[in-house]
Amino acid sequence: MSTRVTGPEIETLIQLLAKMPGLGPRSARRAALHLIKKKDQILRPLANAAAEAAEKVDECITCGNVDTANPCTICMDIKRDRNVIVVVEDVADLWALERAKAVNSLYHVLGGTLSPLDGIGPEDLNIDQLITRVAETPSNPEKPMEVILAVNATVEGQTTAHYITDKLEDLNVRITRLAHGVPVGGE
Ligand code: ZN
Repeated sequence: MSTRVTGPEIETLIQLLAKMPGLGPRSARRAALHLIKKKDQILRPLANAAAEAAEKVDECITCGNVDTANPCTICMDIKRDRNVIVVVEDVADLWALERAKAVNSLYHVLGGTLSPLDGIGPEDLNIDQLITRVAETPSNPEKPMEVILAVNATVEGQTTAHYITDKLEDLNVRITRLAHGVPVGGE
């Protein structure tokens, strides 16, 4: 049995931090110690922010983005071009495009890619919601709706793009692709 050097609360904090992407047990211990030393400046505000986010954060019923507003802030933004939907795999891609100010339209977050080998089929992704969304958008004869597939250039990403293209075929919609997709969680 290993000897404990801290109480269980700190041990729990370290174990949770170690689950963060990019943090192993060692850096988790360092982060925990930093938080504890900066109790009033970081630890308390972080705990409050985390509790508040946990309370309020939700998946947008329209686009699959995560936000504390539902429908999300982007879906409710009337200054965006509502005739264009950019389809991304993950919320991280949406955030990357927003940080790059690359898009001034709406989004649709699939929540992954089709991957038969991993048992991920269309019903596991927000694809039906996308089709319904496009079908229910009133058509403007002068400017048909546009769906931009910004999925990654992986085999799964391209399979997903083909599948969606097929599904949207009968709807009055222009489908384009972002040639190289976007870097996942790109900084
Ligand atoms: Zn939304």
